[in-house]
Amino acid sequence: MSKNESTAKPTNFIHQIIEADIENQTHQGKVVTRFPPEPNGYLHIGHAKSICLNFGTAEKYNGVCNLRFDDTNPEKESQEYIDSIVSDIEWLGYTWNGDIRYTSLYFDQLYAWAVHLIKEGKAYVCDLSPEQAREYRGNFSEPGKNSPYRDRSVEENLALFERMKNGEFAEGACALRAKIDMSAPNMNLRDPMIYRILHVPHHQTGDKWCIYPIYDFAHGQSDAIEEITHSLCTLEFEDHRPLYDWFIENLPVPATPKQYEFSRLELNYTVTSKRKLKQLVDNGTVSSWNDPRMPTISGLRRRGYTPNSIRNFCDMIGVTRSNAVVDVGMLEAAIRDDLDKTAPRAMCVTRPLKVTLTNMDEGHEEWFELPAHPKDESLGVRRVGLTRNLLIEQEDFIEVKPVAKNKHERWKRLALGDAVRLRGAYVITCNEVVKDSHGEIIELLCTYDPDTKGENPVGYKPNGVIHWVSDELSVPCEVRLYDRLFTEANPDGDKEVEFTEHLNSESLVVLPNARAEAGLRGAAVESRYQFERMGYFCVDPDSTSEQLVINRTVTLRDSWAKAQK
Ligand code: ATP
Ligand code: MG
Repeated sequence: MSKNESTAKPTNFIHQIIEADIENQTHQGKVVTRFPPEPNGYLHIGHAKSICLNFGTAEKYNGVCNLRFDDTNPEKESQEYIDSIVSDIEWLGYTWNGDIRYTSLYFDQLYAWAVHLIKEGKAYVCDLSPEQAREYRGNFSEPGKNSPYRDRSVEENLALFERMKNGEFAEGACALRAKIDMSAPNMNLRDPMIYRILHVPHHQTGDKWCIYPIYDFAHGQSDAIEEITHSLCTLEFEDHRPLYDWFIENLPVPATPKQYEFSRLELNYTVTSKRKLKQLVDNGTVSSWNDPRMPTISGLRRRGYTPNSIRNFCDMIGVTRSNAVVDVGMLEAAIRDDLDKTAPRAMCVTRPLKVTLTNMDEGHEEWFELPAHPKDESLGVRRVGLTRNLLIEQEDFIEVKPVAKNKHERWKRLALGDAVRLRGAYVITCNEVVKDSHGEIIELLCTYDPDTKGENPVGYKPNGVIHWVSDELSVPCEVRLYDRLFTEANPDGDKEVEFTEHLNSESLVVLPNARAEAGLRGAAVESRYQFERMGYFCVDPDSTSEQLVINRTVTLRDSWAKAQK
């Protein structure tokens, strides 16, 4: 990300509208927003944009934001999803106005309004089968045809709708439709269905209903009931706005909410569709909705993202009406930025190689005090123990140094016959390499220089500084390295190819033999660290008393941007 991008003030056109409304005392200067998820899956990073916009806008203008479950589709919804959504919003740090609301709480009112439309001659029960209804509807270039049931009398419609409600008809046998205009250029106005029969119990209303309002009939009216002043939704609902306005004009609603549409958040290398995310869970590609590779809020949380980083990211991307794909690198930059400031430092060796300090006594134990954070003294100090048997990163050793073409390519780690500093402790020199029968390096025999504690060595220069842990004093852990779930920037881009064809087979690499410095013993789930030279990490709930499980949140630098240059 360039400096300009991170410092430029992002646009939020909604805030401009609200400021004008407050100035003009529209809605008496009040701001009431709502976040209306359908409980048919877990929330993803796209929803975070909507959450930050709705709750954040209310916060900013001293208004309130309701949480309303748009639960008109009982077949696909569940309490599990409701619970997860509630906990995600709380975790992001937002508080809703009053109780949690449900569209289903308004089913009686919505039913009464449907009856009202029938009485006004503005709705009718239609017996066309779904296939016939589709045929009658026409298409973008052809107007629709009136349903043969369109001219049923008010009395007949009232009686049929009542019988629909009483469960006298099979699913699909008939439906209630608004009587608007079958030749309207906007297809949403071609006598849309407003109630359908569904013999399915509902997670909130149980067996009370076997007819359910269509989302389009419920949404605007629910906003009206809650006296929402600014109904914010994504651009795909722009074409539905004339229909919502028609309902509001033709019903005795207590308020007239106004809808504003903004562009959806789309991220490259990511899918943000609950349906597709559910597919990844159902087919076992990922372990669960909160698998740390998932772009769900709960997945990001488990991966180690902080609420702050997600809120900052949503601020950075702004709110506009133009569709643009955001680079996932920006989300990663947001968490790096936050953790750089807040995460204590620690050392963890992810692929250990044994080092024996031959000039140190067996049983010798020495503790070094290191700052927990290089800039923030308030995080205090940590104690790191050194013994004769150490572990270093396999990739930090090479037998023969490569010939460097320039000083940037100079080998900065350990090599046979060379010296390196152990971070925060002594300088060691490698004198001998021990190999197994396959020629694999299994141990390094080194000596340490007792005069190099906080001092430069005399007469020779170490190659660089590497991280390390004591074999005896370190804490066993399984490190899970995550990478992007897709190898293709736009996994959805080709309609001929299933998005699952682009899965990254290396999105998860498990390192079962990692060891972290002693201070991590008993670290709480969700504790976050910067493992020096390795990246940012977070303790996973799979941890046990014998072994920590640690997720890599993000690398220290954006390795993808580099690889693509
Ligand atoms: P999906 O397509 O992922 O299933 P949805 O739009 O059906 O999402 P809802 O539960 O209806 O999911 O969404 C709740 C709110 O979040 C809506 O107001 C919706 O517009 C908004 N929202 C959903 N996805 C995004 C996104 N990618 N960017 C911004 N807002 C979004
Ligand atoms: Mg939806």
